[in-house]
Amino acid sequence: MGLFLFNTLTRKIEKFYSISKKEVRLYCCGPTVYDNVHIGNLRTYIFEDFLKRALLKIGYSVNHVINITDVGHLETDIDYGRDKIDLASKKKNKSPWKIAKYYEDLFFLDFMKLNLLYPKIVCKATDHIQDMQSMIKIIKDKGFSYIINGNMYFKISKFQKYNDLSKVPKKCRYKSYRVKIDKMKKNQLDFVLWFSNSKFVYQIMRWSSPWGIGFPGWHIECSAMAAKYLGSKIDIHVGGVDHISVHHTNEKAQSEVYFGFKWVNFWIHGEFLIFNNAKMSKSTGKYLTIRELEKQGFSALHYKYLCFSSHYRSQLLFTFEALNASKKAFELLRNRIIFWKMYPEKRKSLFLYNFYKNQFWNSIFNDLNTPKALSIIWRMSKDREIGNSEKLELLEEFDSVLGFNISNFFKSKLNKKKLFLIKERECSRKNKEYNQADKIRIALLKKGIMLKDLHFKTDWYLL
Ligand code: AMP
Ligand code: ZN
Repeated sequence: MGLFLFNTLTRKIEKFYSISKKEVRLYCCGPTVYDNVHIGNLRTYIFEDFLKRALLKIGYSVNHVINITDVGHLETDIDYGRDKIDLASKKKNKSPWKIAKYYEDLFFLDFMKLNLLYPKIVCKATDHIQDMQSMIKIIKDKGFSYIINGNMYFKISKFQKYNDLSKVPKKCRYKSYRVKIDKMKKNQLDFVLWFSNSKFVYQIMRWSSPWGIGFPGWHIECSAMAAKYLGSKIDIHVGGVDHISVHHTNEKAQSEVYFGFKWVNFWIHGEFLIFNNAKMSKSTGKYLTIRELEKQGFSALHYKYLCFSSHYRSQLLFTFEALNASKKAFELLRNRIIFWKMYPEKRKSLFLYNFYKNQFWNSIFNDLNTPKALSIIWRMSKDREIGNSEKLELLEEFDSVLGFNISNFFKSKLNKKKLFLIKERECSRKNKEYNQADKIRIALLKKGIMLKDLHFKTDWYLL
């Protein structure tokens, strides 16, 4: 059994083979940090983390790189408009570096709350301007670019495999653009490698270059940083589906021209989180963050559970009803796990233990089928033919990929008043004042604390 993944490049589910035997080189396009990372963006990072954990489970080490876009991403993905961070900096009257750092920190705070594994390398576009310029020089020397009015463009007509990833014929894509066109481009699908056009003189973040003072186009950052940290061949490149037709298509074109061969083996894309009938997006301002969900009584893990309830390649419609249902399911699961821990049982059925284990991992290794994996967990949790200790053992194993951090379920802190009540009850029991002991036990239960009397002491668990 191996890992099977849907490859956008071939539009097929394929068996995954890594380039090197032990390590997988994984590149994830990071956020543009001009505003809050929203729960739509986080859906993509949750799926990427799940993929990474599945690879780790198989035994690979994962060289995981994620970039931070802090320059070059214009208001549209096709080089029209102004730099998003520059605009935010002017609107908020703060330096673009401050804006970027602020939202980057918030992003990693959400990462932590969701219990996503921290990448091996986090790299910022603004720290890699020299790397981008070196790459642009080679692309230029190979004859794949032109300069008009100060901007350096990538000439897509010279790159035969331009449509490999998007599969959309160039003509159709051209027609589908409803935005204003850039009259300087020879072909509207050409994209900017380096901006130094006078239109951008007000841009705060600027660097000197052989082609004039300016700043990089959006796509070149990922090509340059991926080359620097992962080398010339990448196993898996991921992002949201919005990246297929522009950002990833352009990254691929640049890198394949630069290296002269196929760059990425697996392109994997996550579908959108839909909110109010549209893709949740920063630019519309109609988005939700983890902090907003928390204010309404939900945790990051409730949201993570909701994400797992739909397959990463299907759109997920966000509603508070759906989130509430996920919260209930997650809390029920948490209670069961605590119960299994409190009431261990000897092994009942090796057959069922192996059956659920295999079913779970088969669903994961078959293109990361999280809804199926959750349904198997629920089936197992209700099955009386399998013991509590076996259930707990399986859940602890499954958590390596779910990342719910279930070991945390058993250790939460209590305030002094509650600890005092637990002690008081212990005294009542010792003094055989069972009525009083029961009263305290029920009072604590109402506060979500369950007591378990062991031989020498009383343990407590949060429900
Ligand atoms: P951005 O900061 O817009 O560059 O996006 C960061 C990541 O989030 C990219 O991989 C996007 O494809 C992804 N993304 C953006 N919007 C959504 C959404 N509504 N649902 C899922 N992923 C998204
Ligand atoms: Zn990228």
